[in-house]
Amino acid sequence: MIIDGKQAAANLRSELAREVSALKKSKGITPSLTVVLVGEDAASEVYVRNKVKQTREVGMISNEIRLPATTTQTDLLSQLSLLNNDNSVHGILVQLPLPEHIDESAIIEAITPPKDVDGFHAMNSGRLLNGEKGALVPCTPQGCIMLAKQHLGGDLSGKHAVVIGRSNIVGKPVALLLLQENCTVTIAHSRTKNLAQVCQQADILVAAVGRAEFVQADWVKKGATVIDVGINRIEDALTGKPKLVGDVAYDSVSEVCGAITPVPGGVGPMTIACLLKNTLEAALQQAQNTQ
Ligand code: NAD
Repeated sequence: MIIDGKQAAANLRSELAREVSALKKSKGITPSLTVVLVGEDAASEVYVRNKVKQTREVGMISNEIRLPATTTQTDLLSQLSLLNNDNSVHGILVQLPLPEHIDESAIIEAITPPKDVDGFHAMNSGRLLNGEKGALVPCTPQGCIMLAKQHLGGDLSGKHAVVIGRSNIVGKPVALLLLQENCTVTIAHSRTKNLAQVCQQADILVAAVGRAEFVQADWVKKGATVIDVGINRIEDALTGKPKLVGDVAYDSVSEVCGAITPVPGGVGPMTIACLLKNTLEAALQQAQNTQ
């Protein structure tokens, strides 16, 4: 079975549009997201364009700040300070990667945690680790959990989840969220021994590796739910044209698993939808704190 992330994201956006409209009517607040893009990375341009379009489609305010690649870290920090102090801005997202002369972690830590809709600030990661309510949770991991729950009837309790990858952006937060859902969680990574055998134990297998078609069919337990986070650009063997594939060998794994997210059209669309969800959540929390 294919887990349709495009449809799930469209459903989530419709629900958010209703909530945004209700918030406007009840409190006169329109959630607003500001995306900061430094430099001219082609992939980032596409992501930002999609974010802006979808933010507006759900009725939120979308602002874009474009800065040249030569922007200094000090100038970017000043820009963030202005946004942190601007009450009309509920969410701030600095598009990564940043030019090499800028320290990404210094920038992430400079966004005030209540507006950190990417959920990368140490305060939000700490809240997630502690299982506290109100944490802004990284978007891609949130999307993974929603898709797994949607397929498995909402309850992941007692499932053995194996996450391949331990990045701060995907692997670690997705593992913490699976733990919150009462899964037994194994985190595998580049130094894991017998990776295939570890993966064979998974009822839920999350691949966040960044290696094209890495997970093979004989690593996957029959009937497992496979969430493929990877986005890898490769050359199509037949046409020679570039195409996107995940971290899972889709065709062969589909024959074994119970359900799988496709690439594209799986986790990817959920990421932006969850960003909008975080922006609404940030606006609601800020409204509550100023009451
Ligand atoms: P990363 O490079 O930061 O982390 C990759 C992880 O894979 C590391 O923790 C590493 O230990 C592990 N790894 C590498 N080689 C391995 C091996 N041979 N065996 C086992 N583990 C190995 O990458 P990331 O930022 O976590 O992203 C992972 C993938 O997800 C990439 O393809 C990225 O493009 C994609 N991604 C997709 C979305 C989305 O919206 N769908 C969002 C973020 C990232």
